[in-house]
Amino acid sequence: MARRIPEPFRIKMVETIRQTTAEDRRQALQEAGWNPFLLKAEDVYIDLLTDSGTGAMSDRQWAGLMMGDEAYAGSRNFHHLADTVREVFGYAHTIPTHQGRGAEQILFPELVKRCRRQRPVFLSNYHFDTTKAHVELAGARAVNVLTPQALDTGTAYDWKGDFDLPRLREIVAAEGDNVAAVIITITCNSAGGQPVSMGNIRAVSELARAHGIPVVIDAARFAENAWFIRQRDPAYAGASIASIVREMFDCGDMFTMSAKKDGLVNIGGLCCFKEDEALFRAVQVNCVPMEGFVTYGGLAGRDMEALAIGLKEGLDDAFLSYRIGQVAYLGERLREGGVPIQTPTGGHAVFVDARLLLPHIPAEQFPAHALACELYLEGGVRAVEIGSLLLGRNPQTGKQEPSPFELMRLTIPRRVYTNDHMDYIADCLIEVKKHAGAVRGLTFEYEPPILRHFMARLRPV
Ligand SMILES: *Cc1c(COP(=O)(O)O)cnc(C)c1O
Repeated sequence: MARRIPEPFRIKMVETIRQTTAEDRRQALQEAGWNPFLLKAEDVYIDLLTDSGTGAMSDRQWAGLMMGDEAYAGSRNFHHLADTVREVFGYAHTIPTHQGRGAEQILFPELVKRCRRQRPVFLSNYHFDTTKAHVELAGARAVNVLTPQALDTGTAYDWKGDFDLPRLREIVAAEGDNVAAVIITITCNSAGGQPVSMGNIRAVSELARAHGIPVVIDAARFAENAWFIRQRDPAYAGASIASIVREMFDCGDMFTMSAKKDGLVNIGGLCCFKEDEALFRAVQVNCVPMEGFVTYGGLAGRDMEALAIGLKEGLDDAFLSYRIGQVAYLGERLREGGVPIQTPTGGHAVFVDARLLLPHIPAEQFPAHALACELYLEGGVRAVEIGSLLLGRNPQTGKQEPSPFELMRLTIPRRVYTNDHMDYIADCLIEVKKHAGAVRGLTFEYEPPILRHFMARLRPV
């Protein structure tokens, strides 16, 4: 039986969400061109599009907003934030940014400059999409070196976020001094919020250091990764989350962070350096024209205060066990209901395998997107496709190629929905499964040339 962990908070303020009729939803989806991205958020009952910036702040964070010091330079809140980074991560130098991609855009060009060769390479367990975009904008190549175990959704493996170490060794040996950096993404978002083991983080870091390669941590879900390490690695069974976080970050030289995830804020990011003062100064120079002055980087003083508080709240044991337990609970309910999902569930989302649920819909009719549309029609739940629609056409041939995954992601915002909402989502999807054979694939009415999953308009075939 699926296990519920009760919410470790009580609710002080409520936001009404609208329940709609099946007819309302059919009309809304038609107007949105069968693309949940184009729905008005008001027409959505439970919104699982992303966990990014969609969390609820605590009473302490809201109180922090009132303590904003909106000085252009040297705000009190910046110093609180930099002190918190020193305490939590042990990194000496902090640059705030407007979100994760802001940190990427000011850091990567400097790493490329330090690598004296043409078109250097960045190696990661998996580059998040904006991370890959900023690597390429900086004139470099992004290569993913993820463990092959991550591709098998049906088989449980504890560390589906790990690097494929033998492959990493080969690539480092072949590329020589042409590697600009190794990026360790914790947890591995693109593999389904799957954790990276401490052993893997340490081995990657030792390999990089032996070759003089800088180690960047892409830290969006750092606390969730630490929680998984304690849960799954017997060597850390009694360790505090704070000590595991320190040990992970000791393996890196710098980190970029989208604070919209484990930072528990609606907007914000960080670019921090353990000790490399020269690199820190160079990145600060990029920050001023791109993000803002070096002590605010695109954030209001009050936003930095909320982040300083959120970074520590996110480490709380009761919160993390409830948070990851809630995602696991939804996954368990679905598994009990016979819905095929990525196993084990990750930290922030449940991934439903649409290829198994809708085997009659071919890849070019976007089974996972059709499933997301059907789930919305069923109960007003908005999910997102991670499959062929997202992948796009082959840029060389213009052909639609099947994606290795046809997944529908149910991304759970932090501290927003209750376990009753999880039951409702599971009930809706189990209902969809009952009439899965009648769900139809989709075809384009309008296909944008790039980033098409955001703006495409479709219709059922
Ligand atoms: C969200 C995310 C980013 C980008 O951060 P934004 O705040 O959306 O700009 C980078 N890496 C990972 C792993 C992420 O999840």
